[in-house]
Amino acid sequence: MERGIIDTIKGVARGQFLAGEPLERHCSFRIGGPADLFFVPAGREDFLASWKVLGAARVQSLVIGNGTNVLFGDAGVRGAVLRLKDGFDHLRISDMDEAKKTVVLEVGAGVPLARLHLFASKKGFLGTEFTFGIPGTVGGAIFCNAGTRLGTMSGIASEIEVAGPDGKARWLGAAGAGFGYRTCRLLPGSAVLGARVGLAIGGRDVATTDVRELKAYRAKCQPLGRPSAGSVFRNPEGDFAGRLIEASGLKGLRLGGAEVSPVHANFIVNRGRATAAQVKRLMEIVRAEVERTQKVRLEPEIHVLGDFLKEEQ
Ligand SMILES: Cc1cc2nc3c(=O)[nH]c(=O)nc-3n(C[C@H](O)[C@H](O)[C@H](O)COP(=O)(O)OP(=O)(O)OC[C@H]3O[C@@H](n4cnc5c(N)ncnc54)[C@H](O)[C@@H]3O)c2cc1C
Repeated sequence: MERGIIDTIKGVARGQFLAGEPLERHCSFRIGGPADLFFVPAGREDFLASWKVLGAARVQSLVIGNGTNVLFGDAGVRGAVLRLKDGFDHLRISDMDEAKKTVVLEVGAGVPLARLHLFASKKGFLGTEFTFGIPGTVGGAIFCNAGTRLGTMSGIASEIEVAGPDGKARWLGAAGAGFGYRTCRLLPGSAVLGARVGLAIGGRDVATTDVRELKAYRAKCQPLGRPSAGSVFRNPEGDFAGRLIEASGLKGLRLGGAEVSPVHANFIVNRGRATAAQVKRLMEIVRAEVERTQKVRLEPEIHVLGDFLKEEQ
């Protein structure tokens, strides 16, 4: 990225500017090369101003939250990676209807789902139970339409605030986000700034039971002790990617430091020194083998971003 663009951003936006920042520091896989520019805006206006400069200069730019659904290439990202934190950490009740027993929360993109759930459950609001144990932020969860068998972000997000490449913020109805299974269809260059989520008032007992079950399931069935990005592949209609991978005899398969988890076959874990190339290659092997033996083509759930060195591809 041209030096002049970084200087232009510095002229209009405050925040933490890091050149060549290793992305392994900013994702749950602990893998990934340097970003040309890693920028943590000091606040909302700083983000919008920088997004506008990057958009006008057509610099390849992406926004991340906690980096828990991404695989960054070993050669990193050419362009800018912006992390939303300060200025996107608000969480408040924006509307409450005691008679209808409904409440609307306004929540910033940088709020961890765990904080959203804690806030809601302490107040006795129902609807965020499904987020228990998903380690992302609200922005990332909207973008990925994160969820579990108990629900998805599309089920609670009534409105979403987005910024386009022109740096202008606007609210969209949930229909405008084009939610699908673990996806949404925001326009390219859109960043999620926050959302309004609709919850029910009351019913704490049901919520506690749901969360307890989810917690027990994760502790027993997911490899939480090793770096990963959660489920690698989406579940195909009527089946489970983990079951198909296990049935293909791939549980425990290793490539360098990357391993198809022996605990849950739809997780690839970093055993310590895995490269992005190894994870990507292992994904390709799993995909090909599941297609060959089970006749099902798996689609990735994790977002593979950035550059891979030529010999890695
Ligand atoms: C142990 C573990 C368990 C998991 N369990 C689940 C689960 O049960 N269900 C589930 O759905 N997921 C699960 N995940 C995956 C992940 O936590 C979710 O997808 C989460 O919502 C991602 O949020 P994030 O903030 O980390 O997003 P990131 O990983 O930072 O980003 C993911 C994608 O969203 C984009 N993005 C992020 N923020 C924004 C924004 N503000 N505006 C526009 N684009 C944005 C990024 O560019 C990237 O393409 C799990 C992951 C791990 C490591």
